[in-house]
Amino acid sequence: MQRKRTILAAFAGSLAGLAAAQAAPDMALTRLDCGTPQAPTPVNQRFSDTYGYGDLKLQFVFSCYIIKHDNDYLLWDTGHAMTAPNVAPKESIVDQLAKLGVKPEQIKYVGISHYHADHTGQVASFPKSTVLIGAREWEAITAPKPATGVNFKPFESWIKGEGKVEPLDLDKDVFEDGSVIVLRTPGHTPGHQSLMVKLPQTGAVILSGDAVHFQENYNAFGVPAFNYDRAQTVASMERIKTIATNMKAMLIIQHDARDVGKLPAFPGAAK
Ligand SMILES: [Zn+2]
Repeated sequence: MQRKRTILAAFAGSLAGLAAAQAAPDMALTRLDCGTPQAPTPVNQRFSDTYGYGDLKLQFVFSCYIIKHDNDYLLWDTGHAMTAPNVAPKESIVDQLAKLGVKPEQIKYVGISHYHADHTGQVASFPKSTVLIGAREWEAITAPKPATGVNFKPFESWIKGEGKVEPLDLDKDVFEDGSVIVLRTPGHTPGHQSLMVKLPQTGAVILSGDAVHFQENYNAFGVPAFNYDRAQTVASMERIKTIATNMKAMLIIQHDARDVGKLPAFPGAAK
């Protein structure tokens, strides 16, 4: 009997150890305001190359996201610069994070969907963070003469080698537990990326970057005329749709006000 109890205690102990090792991370996803919306945009012009939307006008917004993973944070996209005419956010990302009690030094990673100005404007506020960016984006940013539309200036300290950068050719499992995964979704730009976050209560959430700009384009495989590569854009949208189905994920199209509104308003968080 004594021996049986000892074995049982040992078994219970090892189970507890196993549970501790696999304890789910404490996670939260909070959306930040990263630009001031302008008048609704007629999407049939630049935002569709198949003329499918008539006079439809949609409200575009600029959003970024802070993801808590235990004691680490990942900031996804950094919005417009505070100096951007008309579209600058009302409050900087640093000030919004302060309201959540998060300091810039706590941001372990800054994930960048792509090099456009409305996604990279405030990256310089996080010089200690490791930048996770598509390798093709990083090539464009560090080119001797960056092309028009490549917002290289805020990356100056990383270009000089003062900060850490991880140019990604493939997906990246950021915290190595499957909870936050950078998805390779090229097409809008050469090294474009999206992000999947698996939250304990909400389930999987996919943050689009600009893999798609609004719901109608997602549903009909519409492609903005200014995208880098049409075929890659369609393939990336198809990839996102398939992941969303398989993971029962909620897609958040970052520029679409209707999608951003699916998440709690700041300072609320999806858990
Ligand atoms: Zn863009």
